[in-house]
Amino acid sequence: MKQFKNDFPIYKNNPALIYLDSGATSLKPQAVVDAMSAYYSEYSANIKRGIYTISEKATEEYEKARETVAKFIGADTNEVIFTRNTTESINLVMYSLGTNIVGKGDEVVVSIMEHHSNFVPWQQLCLNTGASFKIINLDSDYHLSKDGNLPAGTITKRTKILALTHVSNVLGTVNHIKEIVAAAKKINSAIIVVVDGAQAVPHMKVDVKELGCDFYAFSGHKMLGPTGVGVLWGKKKLLEEMEPFLFGGEMIAEVRLDGTTFADVPEKFEAGTPAIAEAIGLGASIKYLESVGLDTIHNHELKLMKLYKERLNKELGDKITFYGPKIPEAGLLSFTIEGLHPHDIASLLNEDSIAVRAGHHCAMQLHTSLGLTGTTRISLNIYNSEDEVDNVVESISLAYKKLGASI
Ligand code: PMP
Repeated sequence: MKQFKNDFPIYKNNPALIYLDSGATSLKPQAVVDAMSAYYSEYSANIKRGIYTISEKATEEYEKARETVAKFIGADTNEVIFTRNTTESINLVMYSLGTNIVGKGDEVVVSIMEHHSNFVPWQQLCLNTGASFKIINLDSDYHLSKDGNLPAGTITKRTKILALTHVSNVLGTVNHIKEIVAAAKKINSAIIVVVDGAQAVPHMKVDVKELGCDFYAFSGHKMLGPTGVGVLWGKKKLLEEMEPFLFGGEMIAEVRLDGTTFADVPEKFEAGTPAIAEAIGLGASIKYLESVGLDTIHNHELKLMKLYKERLNKELGDKITFYGPKIPEAGLLSFTIEGLHPHDIASLLNEDSIAVRAGHHCAMQLHTSLGLTGTTRISLNIYNSEDEVDNVVESISLAYKKLGASI
């Protein structure tokens, strides 16, 4: 296996770092830093405005990045909208579509495992409209559905929106979106399905058309790309029918004193100067992901995850509890250790230069439903390696011996 660490400059500055928090944000390869630096040092003009060479070059690179994103997820180029992140993408759908189609007596369905960014906007929509907010719970192996069928009565003719995550950022569950969408649309063909792909797109091959959903949202910064840029993919017809989200420059066709007409999709949803360097950086991160291969990334993470689980089980036995499918499905693993607060585990690991996440991981309602206030989470990417596993497992067992064993 190639040592991908060499592609990530952060390791040159932090040689001892064991980074296990890619679920929060990924590290960035040199190729991404270089692409952004090239924009700033060679052609840092605004896009779509200047009739001069560097502005034309910036516009071309920005639009090339859109094409790269579209190809990466199996979409048409003009169905790809650049946003700030997953959170903004989901809010865009909630405001521009949700507020127009959801009313009193309707239903919006989410799952208990959603990140707050795919939970709170829909909850607010329901509170503001009087629609009912329905929540799908987990089965005993932390799934929503094995065959695509959600519990009876979940989807009805009154369900306007079904919003689900593709991969849980806490449990590592991979939801069977294609099957769930097909089953939900069989019950109610008008249902709009919004998928949060923040933890899926960076780690496995995603084809939005194959999934059959209506919207798919993700963030650049979790896929080896920069912060400040995200994506909303939506079906063209829906995007065309939707109201704009933000109003202002660059999203108009004609502005008159008595009213304004709007630009076509995707410009209609990209008001103001966008994150130009970041979109170009995202294009570079996708090229990097493609050069490694999504299958290679997914298999590498699963292999490491199984190793972590086995080794931690061996060291800590019944003192450690894992939350997620018995057989790991993604490179995310959350756990608790008897007698230890997740924050204390993270602090002790930090003394050994190991970065993990501790807390509710923006899924407070999930933790509450499991009777927890927080967990410790290991999340992986291509730069993690087998030779980190021994250090991490040893550090976690030392933390237990230091703090937990005495309880
Ligand atoms: N959904 C999931 C599943 C996530 O893991 C995250 C980030 N932790 C988000 C949404 C939100 O992403 P962002 O903060 O980039 O909007």
